[in-house]
Amino acid sequence: SLRFASTSFNAADLTIERNPTLKPKPDPSKLLFGKQFSDHMLTIYWSEEKGWQAPQIKPFQNLSLHPAASALHYSIELFEGMKAFRGVDNHVRLFRPMLNMERMHRSADRCCLPLFDKGELLECIKKLVEVDQEWVPYSTDASLYIRPTFIGIEPSLGVARAGHALIFVIIGPVGPYFSTGAFNPVSLLADPAYVRACRGGVGAYKMGGNYGPTIAIQNVAVKQGCQQVLWLYGEEEEITEVGTMNLFIYWTTESGEKELLTPPLDGIILPGVTRQSLLDLARQWGEFKVTERKIVMKELIDGLEAGRILEVFGAGTACVVCPVGSLLYGGKTYQIPTMQNGPDLAKRFYKELTDIQYGRTQSEWAPLV
Ligand code: PMP
Repeated sequence: SLRFASTSFNAADLTIERNPTLKPKPDPSKLLFGKQFSDHMLTIYWSEEKGWQAPQIKPFQNLSLHPAASALHYSIELFEGMKAFRGVDNHVRLFRPMLNMERMHRSADRCCLPLFDKGELLECIKKLVEVDQEWVPYSTDASLYIRPTFIGIEPSLGVARAGHALIFVIIGPVGPYFSTGAFNPVSLLADPAYVRACRGGVGAYKMGGNYGPTIAIQNVAVKQGCQQVLWLYGEEEEITEVGTMNLFIYWTTESGEKELLTPPLDGIILPGVTRQSLLDLARQWGEFKVTERKIVMKELIDGLEAGRILEVFGAGTACVVCPVGSLLYGGKTYQIPTMQNGPDLAKRFYKELTDIQYGRTQSEWAPLV
Protein backbone atom coordinates (compact mmCIF):
# COMPACT_ATOMS: atom_id res chain seq x y z
CA SER A 1 0.00 0.00 0.00
CA LEU A 2 1.10 3.55 -0.74
CA ARG A 3 0.70 4.44 2.90
CA PHE A 4 3.73 2.35 3.71
CA ALA A 5 5.98 3.81 1.02
CA SER A 6 8.73 5.77 2.74
CA THR A 7 8.38 9.53 2.31
CA SER A 8 12.09 10.05 1.65
CA PHE A 9 15.25 8.14 0.99
CA ASN A 10 17.91 8.27 3.67
CA ALA A 11 21.59 9.04 3.25
CA ALA A 12 22.30 6.36 5.89
CA ASP A 13 21.04 3.68 3.43
CA LEU A 14 23.46 4.78 0.69
CA THR A 15 25.52 2.05 -0.97
CA ILE A 16 28.81 2.65 -2.80
CA GLU A 17 30.12 0.64 -5.72
CA ARG A 18 33.61 1.90 -6.49
CA ASN A 19 34.76 2.34 -10.06
CA PRO A 20 37.71 -0.02 -10.68
CA THR A 21 39.05 2.14 -13.54
CA LEU A 22 39.65 5.76 -12.61
CA LYS A 23 39.98 8.28 -15.44
CA PRO A 24 42.96 10.64 -15.63
CA LYS A 25 42.05 14.12 -14.34
CA PRO A 26 41.97 16.80 -17.05
CA ASP A 27 44.54 19.61 -17.14
CA PRO A 28 42.99 22.32 -14.92
CA SER A 29 44.00 25.01 -17.41
CA LYS A 30 41.99 23.33 -20.20
CA LEU A 31 38.62 22.78 -18.57
CA LEU A 32 35.54 23.21 -20.76
CA PHE A 33 32.23 23.71 -18.99
CA GLY A 34 30.15 20.56 -18.66
CA LYS A 35 32.32 18.29 -20.80
CA GLN A 36 34.35 16.37 -18.22
CA PHE A 37 32.75 14.14 -15.60
CA SER A 38 34.15 12.38 -12.56
CA ASP A 39 34.37 8.62 -11.94
CA HIS A 40 31.12 8.19 -10.01
CA MET A 41 27.47 9.27 -10.01
CA LEU A 42 24.57 9.16 -7.57
CA THR A 43 21.21 7.60 -8.46
CA ILE A 44 18.03 7.38 -6.40
CA TYR A 45 15.00 5.61 -7.89
CA TRP A 46 11.37 6.07 -6.88
CA SER A 47 8.18 4.31 -7.86
CA GLU A 48 4.58 4.69 -6.78
CA GLU A 49 4.46 1.06 -5.66
CA LYS A 50 7.74 0.88 -3.76
CA GLY A 51 8.48 4.48 -2.81
CA TRP A 52 12.08 5.65 -2.60
CA GLN A 53 14.85 3.08 -3.04
CA ALA A 54 18.21 3.28 -1.27
CA PRO A 55 20.54 5.89 -2.82
CA GLN A 56 23.43 4.43 -4.82
CA ILE A 57 26.85 5.79 -5.70
CA LYS A 58 28.20 3.83 -8.63
CA PRO A 59 30.61 4.12 -11.56
CA PHE A 60 29.69 6.96 -13.96
CA GLN A 61 27.62 5.29 -16.68
CA ASN A 62 24.86 5.73 -19.24
CA LEU A 63 21.27 5.58 -18.10
CA SER A 64 18.92 2.99 -19.53
CA LEU A 65 15.46 4.48 -20.09
CA HIS A 66 12.23 3.20 -21.61
CA PRO A 67 11.67 5.18 -24.85
CA ALA A 68 8.28 6.34 -23.52
CA ALA A 69 9.89 7.80 -20.36
CA SER A 70 7.96 10.95 -19.47
CA ALA A 71 11.06 13.15 -19.24
CA LEU A 72 11.71 12.53 -22.94
CA HIS A 73 8.18 13.41 -24.08
CA TYR A 74 6.76 15.96 -21.67
CA SER A 75 9.84 17.54 -20.12
CA ILE A 76 9.16 16.14 -16.67
CA GLU A 77 12.69 17.21 -15.84
CA LEU A 78 14.35 19.62 -13.46
CA PHE A 79 17.88 20.25 -12.35
CA GLU A 80 20.17 22.25 -10.11
CA GLY A 81 23.57 23.85 -10.56
CA MET A 82 25.96 24.22 -7.65
CA LYS A 83 29.68 23.97 -6.95
CA ALA A 84 32.25 22.52 -4.55
CA PHE A 85 35.44 24.49 -3.96
CA ARG A 86 38.86 23.38 -2.70
CA GLY A 87 39.87 26.02 -0.17
CA VAL A 88 43.26 27.51 0.54
CA ASP A 89 43.29 25.18 3.57
CA ASN A 90 42.68 22.16 1.24
CA HIS A 91 39.18 21.61 2.72
CA VAL A 92 36.32 21.15 0.25
CA ARG A 93 33.32 23.46 0.72
CA LEU A 94 29.88 23.92 -0.79
CA PHE A 95 28.14 27.30 -1.05
CA ARG A 96 24.71 27.70 0.61
CA PRO A 97 23.73 24.23 -0.68
CA MET A 98 20.41 24.12 1.18
CA LEU A 99 19.18 26.96 -1.04
CA ASN A 100 19.71 24.66 -4.03
CA MET A 101 17.97 21.78 -2.23
CA GLU A 102 15.01 24.02 -1.43
CA ARG A 103 14.78 25.26 -5.03
CA MET A 104 14.98 21.66 -6.28
CA HIS A 105 12.20 20.65 -3.90
CA ARG A 106 9.98 23.49 -5.20
CA SER A 107 10.73 22.47 -8.81
CA ALA A 108 9.85 18.84 -7.99
CA ASP A 109 6.56 19.88 -6.46
CA ARG A 110 5.69 21.94 -9.58
CA CYS A 111 6.58 18.94 -11.82
CA CYS A 112 4.42 16.54 -9.75
CA LEU A 113 7.54 14.54 -8.98
CA PRO A 114 7.80 12.87 -5.57
CA LEU A 115 9.08 14.94 -2.68
CA PHE A 116 12.06 14.05 -0.54
CA ASP A 117 13.99 15.22 2.48
CA LYS A 118 16.25 18.07 1.34
CA GLY A 119 18.84 17.44 4.06
CA GLU A 120 19.08 13.75 3.11
CA LEU A 121 19.70 14.63 -0.55
CA LEU A 122 22.42 17.07 0.49
CA GLU A 123 24.08 14.36 2.59
CA CYS A 124 24.07 12.00 -0.44
CA ILE A 125 25.59 14.74 -2.64
CA LYS A 126 28.30 15.42 -0.04
CA LYS A 127 29.11 11.71 -0.01
CA LEU A 128 29.45 11.69 -3.82
CA VAL A 129 31.80 14.69 -3.69
CA GLU A 130 33.79 12.96 -0.96
CA VAL A 131 34.13 9.75 -3.04
CA ASP A 132 35.35 11.84 -6.01
CA GLN A 133 37.16 14.47 -3.92
CA GLU A 134 40.28 14.26 -6.09
CA TRP A 135 38.11 15.75 -8.85
CA VAL A 136 37.73 19.01 -6.94
CA PRO A 137 40.44 21.08 -8.68
CA TYR A 138 43.52 22.05 -6.67
CA SER A 139 43.02 25.65 -7.67
CA THR A 140 41.29 28.79 -6.41
CA ASP A 141 40.32 29.60 -10.03
CA ALA A 142 38.42 26.37 -10.66
CA SER A 143 35.75 24.29 -8.95
CA LEU A 144 33.70 21.12 -9.15
CA TYR A 145 30.32 21.67 -10.81
CA ILE A 146 27.47 19.59 -9.33
CA ARG A 147 24.42 18.81 -11.45
CA PRO A 148 21.55 17.25 -9.49
CA THR A 149 18.82 16.16 -11.93
CA PHE A 150 15.32 14.80 -11.37
CA ILE A 151 13.33 13.11 -14.16
CA GLY A 152 10.04 11.31 -14.63
CA ILE A 153 10.70 7.84 -16.09
CA GLU A 154 7.14 6.53 -16.27
CA PRO A 155 7.10 4.17 -19.28
CA SER A 156 3.82 5.51 -20.63
CA LEU A 157 2.69 8.22 -23.06
CA GLY A 158 -0.23 9.46 -20.98
CA VAL A 159 0.14 13.11 -19.98
CA ALA A 160 -0.07 12.31 -16.29
CA ARG A 161 1.94 12.38 -13.09
CA ALA A 162 4.96 10.08 -13.42
CA GLY A 163 4.66 6.92 -11.36
CA HIS A 164 8.37 6.23 -11.74
CA ALA A 165 11.10 8.80 -11.18
CA LEU A 166 14.86 9.11 -10.86
CA ILE A 167 17.15 11.58 -9.14
CA PHE A 168 20.70 11.44 -10.44
CA VAL A 169 23.70 13.62 -9.71
CA ILE A 170 26.74 13.99 -11.95
CA ILE A 171 29.78 16.13 -11.18
CA GLY A 172 32.77 17.46 -13.09
CA PRO A 173 35.56 20.03 -12.83
CA VAL A 174 35.04 23.49 -14.34
CA GLY A 175 37.47 26.33 -14.94
CA PRO A 176 37.22 30.05 -14.30
CA TYR A 177 34.44 31.93 -16.07
CA PHE A 178 36.79 34.80 -16.80
CA SER A 179 39.71 33.05 -18.46
CA THR A 180 42.01 36.08 -18.31
CA GLY A 181 41.38 36.55 -14.58
CA ALA A 182 40.06 40.03 -15.30
CA PHE A 183 36.35 40.79 -15.62
CA ASN A 184 35.30 40.85 -19.28
CA PRO A 185 32.14 42.88 -19.84
CA VAL A 186 29.40 41.30 -21.96
CA SER A 187 27.17 42.91 -24.58
CA LEU A 188 23.42 42.27 -24.45
CA LEU A 189 20.58 42.09 -26.95
CA ALA A 190 17.29 43.41 -25.51
CA ASP A 191 14.49 42.57 -27.93
CA PRO A 192 10.93 42.57 -26.56
CA ALA A 193 9.91 40.13 -29.33
CA TYR A 194 11.32 37.27 -27.23
CA VAL A 195 10.17 36.11 -23.80
CA ARG A 196 11.88 33.58 -21.49
CA ALA A 197 9.02 33.02 -19.06
CA CYS A 198 5.60 34.48 -18.38
CA ARG A 199 3.50 35.24 -15.30
CA GLY A 200 1.68 32.14 -14.13
CA GLY A 201 4.24 29.96 -15.90
CA VAL A 202 7.28 28.08 -14.64
CA GLY A 203 10.14 30.58 -15.02
CA ALA A 204 10.80 30.48 -11.28
CA TYR A 205 11.58 26.76 -11.42
CA LYS A 206 14.75 25.21 -12.75
CA MET A 207 13.13 22.98 -15.35
CA GLY A 208 14.95 21.91 -18.49
CA GLY A 209 11.97 23.08 -20.55
CA ASN A 210 12.85 26.69 -19.68
CA TYR A 211 16.32 26.40 -21.20
CA GLY A 212 16.14 24.54 -24.52
CA PRO A 213 13.99 27.23 -26.21
CA THR A 214 16.43 30.02 -25.23
CA ILE A 215 19.24 28.66 -27.42
CA ALA A 216 17.75 29.94 -30.69
CA ILE A 217 17.40 33.43 -29.18
CA GLN A 218 20.94 33.30 -27.83
CA ASN A 219 21.94 32.59 -31.46
CA VAL A 220 19.92 35.62 -32.64
CA ALA A 221 21.89 37.73 -30.14
CA VAL A 222 25.22 36.39 -31.42
CA LYS A 223 24.18 37.07 -35.04
CA GLN A 224 23.57 40.68 -34.03
CA GLY A 225 27.01 40.93 -32.46
CA CYS A 226 25.86 40.50 -28.84
CA GLN A 227 27.02 37.90 -26.34
CA GLN A 228 23.88 37.38 -24.26
CA VAL A 229 20.16 38.05 -24.12
CA LEU A 230 18.55 40.55 -21.76
CA TRP A 231 15.12 39.01 -21.25
CA LEU A 232 12.27 41.53 -21.27
CA TYR A 233 8.65 40.92 -20.40
CA GLY A 234 5.31 42.47 -21.26
CA GLU A 235 4.01 45.78 -22.59
CA GLU A 236 6.17 47.78 -20.20
CA GLU A 237 9.29 45.82 -21.17
CA GLU A 238 10.14 44.72 -17.67
CA ILE A 239 13.77 43.78 -17.21
CA THR A 240 13.91 40.19 -15.89
CA GLU A 241 17.20 38.30 -16.29
CA VAL A 242 20.33 38.18 -18.43
CA GLY A 243 21.20 34.88 -20.12
CA THR A 244 21.12 32.43 -17.20
CA MET A 245 21.92 35.06 -14.59
CA ASN A 246 19.94 37.39 -12.37
CA LEU A 247 20.36 41.08 -13.13
CA PHE A 248 21.56 43.91 -10.89
CA ILE A 249 21.66 47.65 -11.54
CA TYR A 250 23.67 49.97 -9.29
CA TRP A 251 22.72 53.58 -9.94
CA THR A 252 22.04 57.01 -8.55
CA THR A 253 18.30 57.61 -8.23
CA GLU A 254 16.65 60.80 -9.51
CA SER A 255 16.72 62.05 -5.93
CA GLY A 256 20.49 61.49 -5.79
CA GLU A 257 20.65 58.33 -3.65
CA LYS A 258 22.86 55.34 -4.45
CA GLU A 259 20.72 52.25 -4.92
CA LEU A 260 21.20 48.59 -5.83
CA LEU A 261 18.21 47.38 -7.82
CA THR A 262 17.15 43.91 -8.88
CA PRO A 263 13.84 42.50 -10.18
CA PRO A 264 11.59 40.85 -7.56
CA LEU A 265 10.80 37.14 -7.17
CA ASP A 266 7.38 37.47 -8.79
CA GLY A 267 7.32 34.18 -10.68
CA ILE A 268 9.09 35.12 -13.93
CA ILE A 269 12.70 34.96 -12.75
CA LEU A 270 14.74 32.18 -11.21
CA PRO A 271 15.44 32.74 -7.48
CA GLY A 272 19.22 32.64 -7.76
CA VAL A 273 21.45 31.63 -4.85
CA THR A 274 23.94 34.29 -5.94
CA ARG A 275 21.15 36.90 -6.19
CA GLN A 276 20.08 36.13 -2.62
CA SER A 277 23.68 36.28 -1.43
CA LEU A 278 24.36 39.69 -3.01
CA LEU A 279 21.15 41.07 -1.47
CA ASP A 280 22.07 39.62 1.93
CA LEU A 281 25.59 41.09 1.79
CA ALA A 282 24.46 44.53 0.58
CA ARG A 283 21.79 44.74 3.31
CA GLN A 284 24.36 43.65 5.90
CA TRP A 285 26.74 46.42 4.74
CA GLY A 286 23.92 48.97 4.93
CA GLU A 287 25.87 51.47 2.83
CA PHE A 288 23.29 52.09 0.12
CA LYS A 289 19.64 51.42 -0.62
CA VAL A 290 18.85 47.84 -1.68
CA THR A 291 15.61 47.35 -3.60
CA GLU A 292 13.79 44.40 -5.18
CA ARG A 293 11.18 45.81 -7.52
CA LYS A 294 9.85 45.80 -11.05
CA ILE A 295 12.29 47.69 -13.32
CA VAL A 296 11.25 48.70 -16.83
CA MET A 297 13.46 49.29 -19.85
CA LYS A 298 12.58 52.99 -19.97
CA GLU A 299 14.12 53.54 -16.52
CA LEU A 300 17.38 51.91 -17.59
CA ILE A 301 17.56 53.92 -20.83
CA ASP A 302 16.63 57.19 -19.06
CA GLY A 303 19.23 56.42 -16.39
CA LEU A 304 21.88 55.76 -19.03
CA GLU A 305 21.06 58.97 -20.91
CA ALA A 306 21.19 60.97 -17.68
CA GLY A 307 24.52 59.37 -16.68
CA ARG A 308 23.03 57.89 -13.50
CA ILE A 309 23.86 54.22 -14.17
CA LEU A 310 27.02 53.15 -12.34
CA GLU A 311 27.17 49.39 -12.85
CA VAL A 312 25.04 46.72 -14.49
CA PHE A 313 25.95 43.09 -13.86
CA GLY A 314 24.60 39.56 -14.00
CA ALA A 315 24.86 37.24 -10.97
CA GLY A 316 24.97 33.46 -10.99
CA THR A 317 26.87 30.37 -9.92
CA ALA A 318 28.86 30.23 -13.17
CA CYS A 319 30.60 33.61 -12.82
CA VAL A 320 29.50 35.01 -9.41
CA VAL A 321 29.17 38.42 -11.10
CA CYS A 322 29.47 39.33 -14.77
CA PRO A 323 29.73 43.01 -15.82
CA VAL A 324 27.57 44.31 -18.66
CA GLY A 325 29.28 46.70 -21.08
CA SER A 326 26.65 47.51 -23.70
CA LEU A 327 23.07 47.02 -24.75
CA LEU A 328 21.53 46.72 -28.23
CA TYR A 329 17.92 47.89 -27.97
CA GLY A 330 15.58 49.24 -30.64
CA GLY A 331 18.38 49.20 -33.21
CA LYS A 332 20.61 51.40 -31.06
CA THR A 333 23.69 50.43 -29.06
CA TYR A 334 23.93 51.95 -25.59
CA GLN A 335 27.26 51.93 -23.79
CA ILE A 336 27.05 51.04 -20.10
CA PRO A 337 29.89 52.48 -17.98
CA THR A 338 30.21 49.41 -15.70
CA MET A 339 33.94 48.96 -16.33
CA GLN A 340 34.68 52.70 -16.16
CA ASN A 341 33.20 52.63 -12.65
CA GLY A 342 35.64 49.94 -11.49
CA PRO A 343 33.35 48.07 -11.38
CA ASP A 344 33.76 48.77 -7.65
CA LEU A 345 30.60 47.10 -6.41
CA ALA A 346 30.75 44.05 -8.72
CA LYS A 347 34.38 43.47 -7.72
CA ARG A 348 33.57 43.81 -4.04
CA PHE A 349 30.80 41.21 -4.33
CA TYR A 350 33.10 38.93 -6.31
CA LYS A 351 35.85 39.11 -3.70
CA GLU A 352 33.48 38.67 -0.78
CA LEU A 353 31.85 35.54 -2.24
CA THR A 354 35.00 33.90 -3.59
CA ASP A 355 36.78 34.53 -0.24
CA ILE A 356 33.98 32.56 1.45
CA GLN A 357 33.94 29.82 -1.21
CA TYR A 358 37.71 29.23 -1.08
CA GLY A 359 37.92 29.41 2.71
CA ARG A 360 39.83 32.70 2.92
CA THR A 361 36.92 33.98 5.03
CA GLN A 362 35.19 31.56 7.40
CA SER A 363 31.42 31.62 6.92
CA GLU A 364 28.32 29.56 7.70
CA TRP A 365 27.51 29.94 4.01
CA ALA A 366 30.28 27.50 3.10
CA PRO A 367 29.83 24.16 4.91
CA LEU A 368 32.58 21.57 4.60
CA VAL A 369 31.92 18.42 2.57
N1 PMP B 1 18.63 32.75 -13.76
C1 PMP B 1 18.61 31.63 -14.49
C2 PMP B 1 17.61 31.50 -15.58
C3 PMP B 1 19.53 30.61 -14.21
O1 PMP B 1 19.52 29.48 -14.94
C4 PMP B 1 20.48 30.78 -13.18
C5 PMP B 1 21.49 29.71 -12.89
N2 PMP B 1 20.96 28.76 -11.98
C6 PMP B 1 20.43 31.96 -12.43
C7 PMP B 1 19.50 32.93 -12.75
C8 PMP B 1 21.39 32.19 -11.30
O2 PMP B 1 21.10 31.34 -10.21
P1 PMP B 1 22.23 30.86 -9.21
O3 PMP B 1 22.78 32.09 -8.58
O4 PMP B 1 21.50 30.00 -8.22
O5 PMP B 1 23.23 30.13 -10.01
